[in-house]
Amino acid sequence: MGRKTVIDFSNIRIVLVNTSHPGNIGAAARAMKNMSLSRLVLVQPEEFPSGVAVGRAASAVDILENAVVVDSLQEAIADCALVIGASARSRSIPWPMLSPRETGAKIVEESARHPVALVFGREDSGLLNEELQLCHYHVQIPANEDYSSLNLAAAVMVLSYEVFQAATEAQQGQDNSLEAGWDQELSSAEQMEHFYDHLERVLVRVDFHDPDNPRQLMQRLRRLYGRIRIDVMEMNILRGILTHIEKNLRSDKSNEE
Ligand code: SAH
Repeated sequence: MGRKTVIDFSNIRIVLVNTSHPGNIGAAARAMKNMSLSRLVLVQPEEFPSGVAVGRAASAVDILENAVVVDSLQEAIADCALVIGASARSRSIPWPMLSPRETGAKIVEESARHPVALVFGREDSGLLNEELQLCHYHVQIPANEDYSSLNLAAAVMVLSYEVFQAATEAQQGQDNSLEAGWDQELSSAEQMEHFYDHLERVLVRVDFHDPDNPRQLMQRLRRLYGRIRIDVMEMNILRGILTHIEKNLRSDKSNEE
């Protein structure tokens, strides 16, 4: 738990096309840095470098300083084998679409092998059709039907967040499941079988369970205990309880006799 995420994001670039407001460039840089991304490419920004951008970038000024300014989207993505364009509108010609979540997963998966780009459009008019057609996929951030166009830097944040989450998940693999960071090992199948045998013996012994009329009791208990993933410490406690019930039943019986 709390393991530091060290992921190589150097193959992932954020491309902003023809941005009008330098404040958005700064805010996008900040969003990127929050999510561990660092490569920013600006296609014909209207005003850059800019003090306004620096102000909005806060502690992400390094991303602005290292930003690459180019003349065309083609140039920005030349060496990328995966290009995903963010667009608020669906286009006349249907294009392969990804959800933000799928976008994060795909970018993380492919950036292990080659450079990938996430492309964002102009504040007023988004990406042109010919720019969208340079992309392998489009991603639309689901939003209010009556107002689905996010601020540019907010859109950068949502998708950068998805990239970061996908990378964290990929790194942790199964770690996201219960086993990760748990203080005890989980019980093995064999330990679970011993437990069910023991439980069944005790339930018969206390007349709760009639093996001749089982009514799916053991299946239901298996489902119950299976759902909660019992660890070895919890298993010791449960087995201890059953053993004590048996012991007390025996001594009750010997007292009666
Ligand atoms: N009015 C423009 C939207 C521009 S917002 C239009 O209708 O296309 C600036 C950029 O932010 C967009 O080009 C896109 O890259 C991104 N963006 C904004 N809202 C988005 C959304 N809901 N889904 C995906 N990208 C979005």
